[in-house]
Amino acid sequence: MIKKESIENLKNNLDIVDIISQFLEVKKSGANFKACCPFHGESTPSFVVSPAKQIYHCFGCGVGGDAIKFMMEYEKLSYPEAIEKLASMNNINLEYDNVNTKKQDIRILEDVNKFYQKLFVNNNTSKEYINSRGISEFSIEKFEIGYAPVSGDTINYLKSNHYNLTDAIDLGVIDNGTNGLYSRFIERITFPIYGINGKMVGFGGRTITGHNAKYVNSPQTKVFNKSKLLYGYHLAKEQIYKKNQLIVCEGYLDVIMLHQAGFNTAVATLGTALTKDHLPLIRRGEPKIILAYDGDKAGLAAAFKASVMLSQGEFEGGVVIFEDGIDPADMVKDGKTEELNKIFSSPQAFIPYTIDYIIEKYEINNPAQKQKALTEANDYLKSLSPLNQDEYKRYIAQKLNIRENRVSVNNDVSQRPIDSNLTKIDIAELCIIKSILEKPSRLDSVLDIVDASMFEAHKNEFDLVLNDINNNSLNSITLNEKLENYDDDRLNQELLTLLYKFYSNKLTVISYDKSYDFREKANLIRKIKDNIYQLKLGKLVSYNL
Ligand SMILES: [Zn+2]
Repeated sequence: MIKKESIENLKNNLDIVDIISQFLEVKKSGANFKACCPFHGESTPSFVVSPAKQIYHCFGCGVGGDAIKFMMEYEKLSYPEAIEKLASMNNINLEYDNVNTKKQDIRILEDVNKFYQKLFVNNNTSKEYINSRGISEFSIEKFEIGYAPVSGDTINYLKSNHYNLTDAIDLGVIDNGTNGLYSRFIERITFPIYGINGKMVGFGGRTITGHNAKYVNSPQTKVFNKSKLLYGYHLAKEQIYKKNQLIVCEGYLDVIMLHQAGFNTAVATLGTALTKDHLPLIRRGEPKIILAYDGDKAGLAAAFKASVMLSQGEFEGGVVIFEDGIDPADMVKDGKTEELNKIFSSPQAFIPYTIDYIIEKYEINNPAQKQKALTEANDYLKSLSPLNQDEYKRYIAQKLNIRENRVSVNNDVSQRPIDSNLTKIDIAELCIIKSILEKPSRLDSVLDIVDASMFEAHKNEFDLVLNDINNNSLNSITLNEKLENYDDDRLNQELLTLLYKFYSNKLTVISYDKSYDFREKANLIRKIKDNIYQLKLGKLVSYNL
């Protein structure tokens, strides 16, 4: 069992925005952050994260809770598993009541990495290759380049140092095949890969024996998910924030060489395209993104796809393409740092890059082809923000040499404002409730004055405020930005209005109600009239019916 104090300590050190932003793309919105809800399909964000309250809530499907709840729901973990995951993500140690609960030994990865690094020093083939690519001693150390020996050597290393082999399998260091245990990396130059929290999560490896698979990565494990990771991010992170720039390239060697030449915001995808799963990571710090891809067919197609995705996500930045089979690593090796500087300082912005790419596919001197180009460019344009649609309408028209009104934009702004169906009554009542939730001490004074029956539409919510103010379902009110949080004076005013309306209605109802006897009725009417009189004087009367 994890010790209670340990859990408390963890909770006190968590930041829900930081945690959720490792899984979702969150954008600042007023005092809160917004994202598209991962728990129901949506394209306009109604998932709100509050740093002040350390909670999240989705206005679309109603899910909500704290950071631990999010981990449980998102990663499908039990409570203790979510706690452990959060602790490891945040480098926080947990203490256990029962010492028998052993945690998986992540250190195996780090130790095997050190073992491989030592072997590299004595492996001439590896060293020759690395030297031939122009990688310096400093870079070898910085990027912890290593050498994975023949399979048996890795197995022996683990066995003779008494590592838990099951853990080594779970972490993707070795595997169990028909012929017994074997190493995942055999006679390869190794590049350790780190997660965002600076902990090692796996390896990339390049063959030095001409193996068919030039590069391999660790298999998918609990800690290694290649479609979310970026090689070199942990080393580039600080500079990404500082320089407000992030260079995405295609290979490990590009990253290493770019860093070596001072372009230390470079990272690379792990043999995959840039995917939606990468976006939360590259959104961090809102840097300008530079896609640095090869000019071959695969590189161009990858750059186009990424450019579409990033422009639709309203990322700033652009694309640079390296022509003639020369990649950034080669340019650094050839001492072309100045040239690289120039290239990186003038990337082609995502939107014009994408439009050019679309139009260049067609032979636009041919009217039928031109029509197709227009249709495809138009479809893309419509997927952008209204502002960018207006901006780039002209660009498409010029490129195709047509009149601007031939390019159509998307006028039906389908961005549904949250709770557009709230009535005036809803808003009036919910704002009062929100103002109490924001400052629960107000409840004391309100308690005397307001009865739940005064709420026409939101009686249940007010009941909850009275009886269970921390109930998660109230988060939809707290986090709804359409609802105002009144100051004290305004709250008084609104309460006066609420009460006045309530007592006026009551007066009418009672006047026509035949179930009271005469005395009772006269008494009630007198009370209500007196209350209304007081309210007109601006006094909030205690509830006395
Ligand atoms: Zn939702």
